[in-house]
Amino acid sequence: MEYPGNLFVVAAPSGAGKSSLVKALLELDAKLTVSVSHTSRAPRGQEQHGREYLFVGPEEFRAMVARGEFFEWAEVHGNLYGTSRNAIEQRISHGEDVVLEIDYQGALQIKKLFPHAVLIFILPPSWDELRQRLIRRGDTEPEVIAKRMENARNEVAQARHFDFVVINAVFETALFDLKAIVQAQRLKYLTQQRNRSAVFRALDLIE
Ligand code: 5GP
Repeated sequence: MEYPGNLFVVAAPSGAGKSSLVKALLELDAKLTVSVSHTSRAPRGQEQHGREYLFVGPEEFRAMVARGEFFEWAEVHGNLYGTSRNAIEQRISHGEDVVLEIDYQGALQIKKLFPHAVLIFILPPSWDELRQRLIRRGDTEPEVIAKRMENARNEVAQARHFDFVVINAVFETALFDLKAIVQAQRLKYLTQQRNRSAVFRALDLIE
């Protein structure tokens, strides 16, 4: 599949700072939009249907899987999450740049279907720092921390399959790195030729 828009897929273990980085990236870059996923889990805290997620419940989710409505889907920590096919294909086929904030299983499915997708993995600077961030975030039960750290080890082992790695030691530096990846993608020859066709034509680079 060849689309004019770029697809950026960001994955990370919980506590690495993925959501805050993606949120800040979207605030800096008006041309990027994020795709709202479907999930079988119940809303938490202030979460709203259509804003953080489309909350559909396990049965509806399974029915959507059976109807082939997901571009990718995965079970993460006991709940189901998926990116709807419509949301993505419509947008990138219209030249929009879309960010998916999903887990590594979904990211690897996307790369198979859509090799032009840009896969970005966010790493914490150390295991110790990740543990501290989970504690600061409010996960204080030792079993919860231990479980999240175990999951994080499995997730981090998948970083080698990604195109880019951003180490989130200092938030602003990590944000700058993310922005650089987006910008580099937009400066590729074919993208520039498509988006700056007047310049290319004037320079006799398009017949
Ligand atoms: P949470 O329930 O904490 O919001 O998310 C749990 C995990 O599911 C996070 O790693 C999040 O990125 C991932 N996730 C959210 N939406 C999707 C999705 O559409 N597909 C996949 N594969 N993972 C998702």
